Formats: sequence, structure tokens, C-alpha cells
Amino acid sequence: MSFSDLGLSPELLRAVADKGYDTPSPIQAQAIPAVMSGRDVLAGAQTGTGKTASFVLPILQRLLNDTEHGTSRAPRALVLTPTRELAAQVAQSSRDYGKYVQLHTYQVFGGVSINPQISNLRSGCDVLVATPGRLLDLAQQRCVDLSKVQVLVLDEADRMLDMGFINDIRKIIRLLPQKRQNLLFSATYSDDIRGLAEKLLHDPLSIQVAPRNAAIELVEQRAYRVQKEQKRHLLVHLIQEGQWHQVLVFTRTKHGANRLTQQLEGAGIKAAAIHGNKSQAARVKALEMFKKGQVTALVATEVAARGLDIKELPQVVNYELPNVPEDYVHRIGRTGRAGAAGEAISLVSGDEAGLLRDIERVLRRTIPVVQTPVFKILESAPMPAGQGSRGGDRPAGDRPPGQNRPQGNSHGNRGRDTRRSPGQQQRGRFN
Ligand code: AMP
Repeated sequence: MSFSDLGLSPELLRAVADKGYDTPSPIQAQAIPAVMSGRDVLAGAQTGTGKTASFVLPILQRLLNDTEHGTSRAPRALVLTPTRELAAQVAQSSRDYGKYVQLHTYQVFGGVSINPQISNLRSGCDVLVATPGRLLDLAQQRCVDLSKVQVLVLDEADRMLDMGFINDIRKIIRLLPQKRQNLLFSATYSDDIRGLAEKLLHDPLSIQVAPRNAAIELVEQRAYRVQKEQKRHLLVHLIQEGQWHQVLVFTRTKHGANRLTQQLEGAGIKAAAIHGNKSQAARVKALEMFKKGQVTALVATEVAARGLDIKELPQVVNYELPNVPEDYVHRIGRTGRAGAAGEAISLVSGDEAGLLRDIERVLRRTIPVVQTPVFKILESAPMPAGQGSRGGDRPAGDRPPGQNRPQGNSHGNRGRDTRRSPGQQQRGRFN
């Protein structure tokens, strides 16, 4: 199948061709005709599957076909997303796909001044992409008219529910016309999502492009056993030995992200943090620098990383395992995107053994625990001038008893550990 078989206008096809896409992805092949026919859709699709184009393209086509909307400039399509980054990304995709047609896309989200958004909304738009909280603020201030919305999209609905947006979503839905098309995209299906889908969707077409909760097949997953306080040393080793140039690292807390960023910088690795306490401008800048290769490691918390679309990201590191197993799927969805292979590496300390088991249960597969390479403990105190910037490094074999016992020989290891046969996999659990 090609895009031209999907009934899209020549202008939309031209924009798709500009993007360099040859063939619709499986979700696009299924969702585009359904959405164009006006049907509700329930789609189980992760980031990386091409889900954005699967709803944006047919929505633009529907709006182009809709000649009866008169002169009203109130939004006719509304996309709700959990995070600012995803809102900005979806809006950009909509502008990219709509660049040869007269349709206007605008985005609103919190964390930035509301006034420019108010004046932009006054000039009108066709597609509005929004995070729920800010949209509700704007609606309550009567700065946006949602009465003309014909299509509602809940993108990454599972994450919106996790983030506690359900009440905001309900309030927004009450402001929409009763007769409308509804599209719900979710990477995972909890009972809450099922409940929301039952209430919201009428006779939906269900599309599932990846097995439920299964991690993206192309991603090579592995875990290393490591003591909590030594994770940073192992991470520095992996980045330096593997000559990684673009790695997304997940921590559990904002504070942890800041601290690790400083520690990586201290080891001579360019790093930036991205989390909810950073201003929108700082987040955009960190992401841009990462995309351009000016920063090697982007250290992110769960929420901030949602929806980040970084092409062909080679490595994702779970510095700490997520508490919610489904988040693991989202995290590793950052790599191996659009057909590119990627690696997802988890650094697992003893207290995280249960979390790893939970993740494996959700994935319905085991994550190989491979031997931890020998790595150096880096001194935190700087050495006196003249001894070199790495002068504080101490080889793993040169440490006080009980600290950083070399844990084996594995990926990137150059055979310094002779205690185990090379490449031997250590499948033991953490007990
Ligand atoms: P998404 O799942 O919507 O976040 O898209 C993931 C990535 O795949 C984005 O970088 C898109 O530009 C890209 N993409 C979407 N559709 C296609 C396609 N049909 N062929 C190749 N790449 C695509």
C-alpha cells in the first residue's frame, strides 16, 4: 500500500513525500481510512509507530473536505496531550503535513505565559493541540470556543490518566458538541483506559499495532546489576567505553536528574537535565542541544521525556527502574524508532529486583541480566592542578575492600576481568 491509496489530497501527499515517507506504517494504513470515514478509533500504539500522522493526516483531510464551517475560526479539531513537549511536537507535525493547505494549527500548554496564547487563539485556528490544564484555564477565561470541535483526539491517554488529568478531560469534554468523532490513542490498556474508552467512543474501530504492552521488538534490552551508589561510575564507563554520542538517561526524580547531570559533567561528559521544574525555554534548549549532538547525555524524568521524538536514538538507559512497569515500555520507546535498531540498558540495584520482575511480567519476557563490565570508581573531589582532568580516576581493582567489586565481563569490556568467561550471561536474579 502507498500513501496515494489512502484518499489524501495531493497537497497532503506532497507534504508526506517531503518528509521522506514511502509507505504508510501499519497504524497509518488502518487508522487513516477509518478516521477519514468519520469512525471513532481506539488505537493501542506506542510512540515510534507513526501514530501522530495516523490521526493528523486524516483530520486535515476531513477539515479540507468540510466546506460548511463558514467563517468561524474556532478550532474544529482538538488534540489533548499529556505534556508540553508532545503538544509542541504534534502541532509541529500538523503544520508540516498541512504546509501546502490553508489550515492553521496552534498549540497551548502550561509553563509559559498565557497572554500570547490568548491573542493567538483570538486570531483563530483549525487544529488546536493542548495540554488539559492550560486549555481548561483558557476555556474558563472564555478565551477559546470549543463548540465547533468535530474531532477530539486523546493522545497518550494512559499517560494523561496517570498524570491525574481525568477530571480536566471530563470538564473539557462537557464543553464540546455532543456529536463529534473521538479518537483515543494509548500505549497501554489499564481498566481506567477501558472505562474511559467505553464512555467516550461509539462503535470504535480497535487497532492494535504492537502486542499489548510489548516492548518494541527492534530494541535490544539488557540489564546490569550494580550497587546503587556505583551506578554513576558504571554509566560514565558505558558512555566512554562505548563511545556513545547520544544517550537518554532516565532517573526517577528531578533532584536525581540534576545531580546525575552534574556528576556526568564532572566526568567530562556533556549532559543536560530535562524535567518538570525546568522552564519551558530550558527544556526546549536542552532538547535542541541534545538533538544537535552538543550534549551527549540527556537526563530526564518520566514526564518530561514523554513524547520526545528524537530520530534513531541509539541508547536509552534506565538509571533507575520506573515504579510503574508500563513506563518502561514508554521509556524504551524512545529508541529503535521508525525502524532503527536501539539499545535499552537498565542499571539495576538490589532494591530494584522486584521492579525488574514486574516489568518482565508486563512484557511477558525476561530482560537478560548480563555481566557488569569492570569500571572505574571516579573520585568526587577534584585532584590538584597538574595531575590531569581524569587524574582522580581509580581503576576498579584498586579500590578499598568491599567497594565496586568487578562484576564480570560483558558488552564493551576489553577482557580485563578474567574471573568469568567472556560473554557469559548472568541470568541470576537479585536475591
Ligand atoms: P510517532 O509515532 O508519530 O511519534 O512517529 C515516530 C517517527 O516516525 C517520527 O519521526 C515520524 O516522522 C516517523 N514516521 C511517521 N510515519 C512514517 C512513515 N510512514 N515512514 C517513515 N517514518 C515515519
